[in-house]
Amino acid sequence: MSFKELNLIEPIQKALKTEGYSEPTPIQVKAIPQLLKGKDLLGCAQTGTGKTAAFAIPILQGIHSEKQSTKGNRQIKALVVAPTRELAIQISESFRSYGRNLGLRTLVIYGGVGQNPQTKELRQGVDILVATPGRLLDLINQGFVSLKNIKYFVLDEADMMLDMGMLKDVRKIIAFIPKVRQTMFFSATMPTEIGELAKSILNDPVRIDVTPVSSTVDIIEQEVYPVDKGNKTNLLIHILKDKKIESALVFSRTKHGANKIAASLSKAGFTTEAIHGNKSQTARQLALSNFKNRKTRILIATDIAARGIDIDELSHVINFDLPEVPETYVHRIGRTGRAGLGGKAISFCDYGEKPLLRSIQKLTSKPIEEVTDHPYPLVDTTIKPKERSSRRPSTAKSSPSNEPKQKGKEAKNGKVRREKRANESKKTTSKKNEKRKNVHWSSR
Ligand code: AMP
Repeated sequence: MSFKELNLIEPIQKALKTEGYSEPTPIQVKAIPQLLKGKDLLGCAQTGTGKTAAFAIPILQGIHSEKQSTKGNRQIKALVVAPTRELAIQISESFRSYGRNLGLRTLVIYGGVGQNPQTKELRQGVDILVATPGRLLDLINQGFVSLKNIKYFVLDEADMMLDMGMLKDVRKIIAFIPKVRQTMFFSATMPTEIGELAKSILNDPVRIDVTPVSSTVDIIEQEVYPVDKGNKTNLLIHILKDKKIESALVFSRTKHGANKIAASLSKAGFTTEAIHGNKSQTARQLALSNFKNRKTRILIATDIAARGIDIDELSHVINFDLPEVPETYVHRIGRTGRAGLGGKAISFCDYGEKPLLRSIQKLTSKPIEEVTDHPYPLVDTTIKPKERSSRRPSTAKSSPSNEPKQKGKEAKNGKVRREKRANESKKTTSKKNEKRKNVHWSSR
């Protein structure tokens, strides 16, 4: 299937060619014809599937054809609401790229920065507005944004909005949008509350489910390194010495952990930065663009800071900690292997994380190759394995503001003792073990 067969207008086809897209992705093949017909859409899809283009292209084509017939001031005709600033920026960049030959104006607005530059842009007239809920609602209430001419409305990553407590604002925003419109609703998962919201705002939608979470991982080479908790940083430094790793996104479960890893890597001479909820928006944006421009080789991120971030040609994802929810593993490693490009995902797994690894393998139904031939093999099997959380995928669990709390002095001392033990046993075994298969691990 080609873009031409999807009946796209010439200027959009030309823009897609400039982007280097040779053919549509499965979600684009399914969604574009339906959206061009004016149908509402319920998309169960995550980033990495090409869903942004799947909704942006028909919107651009629709606005372009209406623009030919109606002259006058620019009014906001399409509204895209996304949960994070990073995601909103990416979406706006996609609209600008695919619409580069159409002369339409796209604006992105988000909180955490001054509103004046945004209101100035709004006054000049906008065709497509991409926004995060809080700032959008602020600007509506102050009279800077009018949604009365909206014809196309997209709600992206709705489940993440639920996790981030944004649904109240979203409902208020929806109340400002005309009822006669085309609505596109995307969510990676469909918890009850999201299903109900979708039902209340969609009109006889086409439902499209793309790539069940497990199959997106097929093109990504995956490895797991059994390692003691206290040796994860040493192992990371060892792995990153490989020059073939051009850029790596390292996931830490907590913001404190992310800072610690970044500090250790800097000390070891690597260019690195950390992004998480405690960093200002400007700092996060700068860190991200340094990483994208290859000024920084290693970006350490918590799940919430990294979700939805699209980094072209990311060669490696490293899970310093395994996520508590297996679906998060798939979201994490999906940052690499974008749009058919290969990529490699390396996961560290200490003894306590073994049940998490089992759950991940069950979900992806793919064995993950075990690498035991490294200088810091797992030796400490005295840590009681943790029970896997039975909660549904939730960013709240991995939220930077939700770090596991230290359970008092006893737990702290126990942790210190365990780490000390792990380090001591490592010292005596690491060299000898470099080439040895870790029988303890494999036989369990
Ligand atoms: P998304 O799921 O919208 O975050 O898109 C994931 C990545 O796929 C982005 O880097 C897009 O630029 C890229 N992409 C989207 N559609 C195509 C396509 N038809 N061919 C190649 N790359 C694409």
